[in-house]
Amino acid sequence: TEDISTISEKDLTHILEKNRSFYTQGKVANYIPELGKMDAQSIALSIVGKNGKVLNVGDVGKKFTMQSISKIIALMIAVSEKGEAHVFDKMGYFGTSQPFNSFSNLETSGKPLNPMMNAGAILTTSLISGDGEKPFLKILDMVRYITRNQTLDYNKSVYESERSTGHRNRGMFYLMKNNGLISGNEDQLNNYFKQCSIELTAEDLAKIGYFFANGCVRFDGDSQYKNAEIAQLIESQMLIAGMYEFSGEYARTVGLPSKSGVGGGIAISVPGKMGIGVFSPALDQHGNSLAGYHMILDLVKQYHLSIF
Ligand code: GLU
Repeated sequence: TEDISTISEKDLTHILEKNRSFYTQGKVANYIPELGKMDAQSIALSIVGKNGKVLNVGDVGKKFTMQSISKIIALMIAVSEKGEAHVFDKMGYFGTSQPFNSFSNLETSGKPLNPMMNAGAILTTSLISGDGEKPFLKILDMVRYITRNQTLDYNKSVYESERSTGHRNRGMFYLMKNNGLISGNEDQLNNYFKQCSIELTAEDLAKIGYFFANGCVRFDGDSQYKNAEIAQLIESQMLIAGMYEFSGEYARTVGLPSKSGVGGGIAISVPGKMGIGVFSPALDQHGNSLAGYHMILDLVKQYHLSIF
């Protein structure tokens, strides 16, 4: 499949309906209490192709928090500001067998494994320049730019909920401060909680997927951030660690750079072609959307989208 002209909304509806009931086998994240209030039955699928063509099915108006998907935006900004060498001097390019919130090797080598797991992501956000809320505002502005949606904002209740219960993330933050990797104060951790709380739709995620699939060119062709090298870096991180410890099996079965979040969203890049956004809040044991994964699996099989 070269573009989305061969895909119809009818095909997508079929895929969505076929996988709708998977939510019954998953569990909505509730370790962040406010996330536990999400409607487990909502489900959406969106594809954005060349010339900005959009296909939407399901609850596409439904907003949810982007959570870990924000990590790819933060990485893009940190690397454009500081350079790849500086960022990856402080963390690794490794994949992992550990869950997203693992302390992994922070106590031994002292450096996070990669920028996709919480430790590396918290560190990445701390590398974006500016005091107080400024780094977060850069992330928010970039998400607004990529989705061409100036109304996007973060959900204050989810943010407060994350901030008041995120003791594990706070622990990582201070361990990295102890290791000399972080020099700032807790504003930097709060920026991470805020970026995770940015609310958007499946269509917005498809536009993010499209952006990185096309060398940081926006779905409408705007190319002010065009950068093939950064897109390649982000896509490679999505491929090796974007689906947490399920990334290897996901590469085998789906074979596309993808980033999931515990809010139930997944942003997928089909390199050089399209972006896909899925949403269904019931998660599997790894923290990935269950119905979301199965919708992607069907889509990839039907349209031969795997990069391998
Ligand atoms: N805000 C979440 C956390 O730090 C993000 C995790 C995720 O989506 O994987 O726990």
